[in-house]
Amino acid sequence: MEYPIGATGPCRENVAFSGGPLRVCEDGGKGGAAMYYRLVVIGGGPAGCAAAVRAARRGATVALVARNARGGVTGGRAWDPESVAAAMPNRITVYPGTGRLWDPDRVEVVHFEGYTEELRAGNVVVATGAGSPADWRGTLHRWRYGPRRAAGKRDLPGVVLVLGGGIAACELAAGLAAAGVSVTLLAEGELLPAVDRDAAEVVGRTLRRRGVTVRPQTRVREVREGTGKVTVVTSDGTELTADRLLEAPPRRVRCGHLGLESLGVEPDERGAVPVDDRMQTAIPGVYAAGDVTGPKDRPALARAEGIVAAENALGRPCRLEPELVPYHIRVGPGAAGVGAREHELAARGVPYRVVRLALLPWGPGRRKGFLKLVSCPVSDRLYGVHAVGPKAGAWAEAAALALRTGLTSGEFLRYAGAARPEVLACQ
Ligand SMILES: Cc1cc2nc3c(=O)[nH]c(=O)nc-3n(C[C@H](O)[C@H](O)[C@H](O)COP(=O)(O)OP(=O)(O)OC[C@H]3O[C@@H](n4cnc5c(N)ncnc54)[C@H](O)[C@@H]3O)c2cc1C
Repeated sequence: MEYPIGATGPCRENVAFSGGPLRVCEDGGKGGAAMYYRLVVIGGGPAGCAAAVRAARRGATVALVARNARGGVTGGRAWDPESVAAAMPNRITVYPGTGRLWDPDRVEVVHFEGYTEELRAGNVVVATGAGSPADWRGTLHRWRYGPRRAAGKRDLPGVVLVLGGGIAACELAAGLAAAGVSVTLLAEGELLPAVDRDAAEVVGRTLRRRGVTVRPQTRVREVREGTGKVTVVTSDGTELTADRLLEAPPRRVRCGHLGLESLGVEPDERGAVPVDDRMQTAIPGVYAAGDVTGPKDRPALARAEGIVAAENALGRPCRLEPELVPYHIRVGPGAAGVGAREHELAARGVPYRVVRLALLPWGPGRRKGFLKLVSCPVSDRLYGVHAVGPKAGAWAEAAALALRTGLTSGEFLRYAGAARPEVLACQ
């Protein structure tokens, strides 16, 4: 089906958002005909903003319905509705408010001022994140935590319990600890289960050195809220009391308010919206991306999903390859990687070989980082690359391309290693 591209309506400056001028519908929907957009994106986190930007770059007119001008839960300033609309003012129109699907091609926006407005959509991308945390957690989750934000806050609590053992939990714990908060991290399983074991060990050591108490394999049996305090009872009967309890992802998704169920989308057992590898939901023309499709620990993956959703929505078929999206942990020297992890291959009985190289020393005490190449023992084709050190992110990005193009570990080192002088020698 062909949709017109380029239709847009009269606009005025918006005052509800604090940043630069944004485009919003002139009559605020109070009586005028519904505006048509090639793509309507609901949710202004990393996934929604990435979808909006990609569609706008492809020449489509985009409405971005965003409840929060400052983006999603992590609040990255480069990727929020204010910034993306300011960067592409002729293409992206931000509707500050709450979006809901009436039909696959009709979106209702409930504005902060209370009035509602209808948008007509060529296609829709739902990117509303994992929703707000539940019940007892809700009152304890008022701030937007992030390593940099936490460090700059003045009204931080003295003692915080962080629930979760993923990337977000570690970054939050490190940020809070750096700001002087006493932090205990409670992980149900091991710390950073989806990350290379050696990298996870370095992150765990860094957290402990910064004063974070890390308690892996700890289940929460009960949470009791008292006046100004919260007590957590763990599975071994230990009681831990804190000023605040922060639930880090993965969290349960709640998407009941989006109108999807009445259109025939049944959430899965996690409450998430099921999608295929093109981010298409069960409703033709309606796509979903980011934490709403299942909570994840990585804004990069949420953004990749947003891009894939936008491309497919504009009729440019492409598939998500989540294993090619790098992880990056900004704790201590930084750890990053992409592709298969050693422990995962071992568990699956897949033969592999590992080459481990030292990276230039970093930080106090001049510790050495490392680069680990996991490859096929016969063909040497790369399965995964993991790094610890200040340039870990750059290695992981280069490795993602190497994996995509099927390079061997030797070829990878020849090209990427030549460009990056910090490789020392085999360890
Ligand atoms: C507390 C916390 C801290 C985190 N910290 C880290 C970290 O340090 N490092 C890391 O790698 N990952 C972190 N993550 C995970 C990462 O931020 C998420 O995976 C990522 O933000 C998901 O992006 P998203 O766009 O799907 O959802 P979100 O970022 O949640 O954005 C969704 C947006 O949609 C809005 N919205 C919801 N419903 C509607 C509606 N009906 N209409 C309009 N707008 C709506 C929400 O208000 C929100 O602004 C953290 C997550 C949490 C919960």
